[in-house]
Amino acid sequence: MNIAIIGSGTMGSGIAQVAATAGCAVKLFDLNQDALAKSKKALETTLSKLVEKEKIDADEKSRIQNSISYVNSLNDLSDSDLVIEAIVENLEVKRKVFSELETLVSENTILASNTSSLSIASIAASCKKPERVIGIHFFNPAPLMQLVEVIPAVQTSEEVLQKSVQIISDWKKVVAVAKDTPGFIVNRVARPFYSESLRIYEEGVADFATIDWALKTIGGFRMGPFELMDMIGHDVNYIVTATVFTAFYFDPKFKPSFTQKRLLEAGFLGRKSGRGFYDYC
Ligand code: NAD
Repeated sequence: MNIAIIGSGTMGSGIAQVAATAGCAVKLFDLNQDALAKSKKALETTLSKLVEKEKIDADEKSRIQNSISYVNSLNDLSDSDLVIEAIVENLEVKRKVFSELETLVSENTILASNTSSLSIASIAASCKKPERVIGIHFFNPAPLMQLVEVIPAVQTSEEVLQKSVQIISDWKKVVAVAKDTPGFIVNRVARPFYSESLRIYEEGVADFATIDWALKTIGGFRMGPFELMDMIGHDVNYIVTATVFTAFYFDPKFKPSFTQKRLLEAGFLGRKSGRGFYDYC
């Protein structure tokens, strides 16, 4: 099966690894050449670690690496059975990519978005054949996280939904089909986890390291909210919160945080930029 991924950042790179590991031929496209080079290097590091830990052997590592080609034109994706878009969380940018993509691929290609919070119906409406558009939402890090939300839009055909569920199940992931509502299941539930932690920090109840410590040590969470926001990236996390807040007609329980907004404006995006709440340099 030929899979195309658009966007070779955190999520696109992880999804490419998942698809290649499952035996698919993967084409990874990004507008930014540096992002493609970084993705290739990151895969080498990840797979080498898996070889060291004896989770895969050297032949499997080469097979996975050889299954992924790094391309620099949307035209190169024309022979895909499934395209998964994982670019910036911006509706207009995504709509533009989908409407262009539709003219390049075959009639039967499934077009999926990995959006965390945007309306799949709005993305689908940018296409002449919206019934083949669907949300396929992986979690970070995609190779490790079992759950994938599959989100049919009101326009999505039953056949595209069933095929998508089958493909993701074949990739050894656990599928939850969710309605096309802001944040779907997990990102909606997770919003107050981040927002309330940020408010506790802003009110001076405790510093962020203490909040992380308390939730991990006492609360049983694997990562604290501030570590998690740093891992996700404040650009992505803030925009998802802002989108969910707006989409729920400004319900105060989803209100975004100025502290996080300032980090984003300063370019302190978390792990990916070397600094967020914590310092990674
Ligand atoms: P990222 O910033 O790490 O990567 C995005 C990549 O897309 C960049 O390399 C950028 O160069 C590329 N890009 C931007 N516009 C493009 C275009 N028009 N054409 C081709 N490439 C383009 O972002 P990410 O964290 O991987 O998030 C990508 C998507 O996945 C977003 O919709 C986000 O909401 C969603 N998502 C993110 C997470 C997370 O934890 N980071 C989890 C689940 C879903």
